[in-house]
Amino acid sequence: MNPSSRDDAMTPVTEPGICSRCIMNDAVSGVFLDGNGVCNHCHLHDKLDRLFPLDETGHARLLKIVERIKREGRGRTYDCIVGISGGRDTCYCLYKCKELGLRPLAVHFDNGWDSEIAKTNLRNVLEGLDVDLHTVVADWEESRELTNCTIRASLPYIDMTDDVGIVSALYRTAAREGVRWIIHSHSFRSEGINPLRWNYMDGRLVRHIIRKFCRIPLRFFENVELRHFFWWVFVKRIKTFTMTNYYDDVGEEIDELLKSRFGWQDTGGWHFDNEIFGLVCRYSRVKFGIDWRLCELAAWVRTGVMARDEALRRMTEVPAIESDEVVNYALKKQGISAEEWQEVLAAEPKYYTDYPTYYPVLKLLSPLIWLLGRLQVLPAHTYEKFFKT
Ligand SMILES: [Zn+2]
Repeated sequence: MNPSSRDDAMTPVTEPGICSRCIMNDAVSGVFLDGNGVCNHCHLHDKLDRLFPLDETGHARLLKIVERIKREGRGRTYDCIVGISGGRDTCYCLYKCKELGLRPLAVHFDNGWDSEIAKTNLRNVLEGLDVDLHTVVADWEESRELTNCTIRASLPYIDMTDDVGIVSALYRTAAREGVRWIIHSHSFRSEGINPLRWNYMDGRLVRHIIRKFCRIPLRFFENVELRHFFWWVFVKRIKTFTMTNYYDDVGEEIDELLKSRFGWQDTGGWHFDNEIFGLVCRYSRVKFGIDWRLCELAAWVRTGVMARDEALRRMTEVPAIESDEVVNYALKKQGISAEEWQEVLAAEPKYYTDYPTYYPVLKLLSPLIWLLGRLQVLPAHTYEKFFKT
């Protein structure tokens, strides 16, 4: 049997319930329309846009923070840590860091799914910018098992433990190197913000999932618990800076610059730099009705990069990354048979609210999280993502 034979149906997007400005749908968890039919994600975009204007005021603030990062990096080999995947956004962020005179250490988390193009891009950009690289390689057997744990837990985002691996790699490298700043390249302008229910994760959830669903002993995986965060933030004084908030990162110009300066290659499609993403998308869309393109395409409509009609049209197509070839390759690599895959899709969907998490504690700490976001300790949109979506 073809493991993907039942996955062709696409949920049609109908006009009622769709934001009149972007394409967010009020059927999606945490999306609400106001009296004018405009969604809360559009209002959040406007709020962040006011908070991080791309005018002279915003640029002056960027330069001020960069000066602070340089000052706090004096006497050290590196000013800051920049996570890099080989994709467009992280490569451009690294370029901006160098352009602003920072001395970054690039950190890459290798989960065993990097595409050949992503690896070549990574090498070319690092060489071109003369930036040192520290790669954290996940143990493949463990990495695979952890992804399968999330699948067995029936949670929507099966790449969860790789994201934990990235956070762990960034903070642990910063702590070891004595670096005070981690530069993030998440962009509310070009990526939007995913609803919390889609990909919430924390150390307690991960610990529980491992205890309940893991079938092999883990020797290398390092979870990120609240106590680790407290250690990194309050003892090691590590701060984060979402630099993307301060520069314009939308549009084709970024791709063109990377191509001409570094021979950077487009991976040929959305998220194609990470080969597990075809499986991530198929699984979420078929089992949960979650389409990971939604927030990004909605963001492109808000910034005028894509026409609303075109974005709505694209949402009716099955994403190219979900080709049977890509999905079946990923299933084989994960060791999941066709029969198991059907069982996975048929199992009852679960969310973070079905498992023990730190969320109730974080909710009590929400004023502190708001403050830490404004003080550059946590990414600025953390509060909005955790408590407003
Ligand atoms: Zn909207």
